[in-house]
Amino acid sequence: MKNCLFCKIIKGEIPSTKVYEDENIFAFLDINPNNIGHTLVIPKKHSRNILDIEERDLKNVIMGVQKISQAIKKAVSADGINVMNNNEPVAGQVIFHTHFHIIPRFESDGYKHWKGKTKYAEGEAEQVAEKIRKEI
Ligand code: AMP
Ligand code: ZN
Repeated sequence: MKNCLFCKIIKGEIPSTKVYEDENIFAFLDINPNNIGHTLVIPKKHSRNILDIEERDLKNVIMGVQKISQAIKKAVSADGINVMNNNEPVAGQVIFHTHFHIIPRFESDGYKHWKGKTKYAEGEAEQVAEKIRKEI
């Protein structure tokens, strides 16, 4: 895809610090890491995000996410790993080429988890679950 930053990184037109590559996926260090070792895993075939990626590409990416998460955990002696994927601007997506963040976590890193602040009204959970079930 023309003018896609991550497509350019895959082609080597823009430099990156590569950690893994195979015929389907590419992984490189995030330029603005949450923690040392923060890595992005992307499919080589362009898609916008998880809402339009083809099943085959998603399977390859997620298997890569597991393999690379295991490697990062050992490499930086992380206590845990967050895997994150942002879809569309409201959800924090800035680069519109599907990517998964692998963020190594340390007991001492000070990041806090989001707290859920939404509550279901009486009967609402069942209604919304039914709406979702109908769309699957
Ligand atoms: P998102 O907000 O989920 O779209 O994440 C985009 C990520 O891409 C951010 O964490 C950026 O720091 C990262 N990023 C942007 N440009 C580059 C680049 N040239 N090399 C590596 N990571 C980048
Ligand atoms: Zn792209």
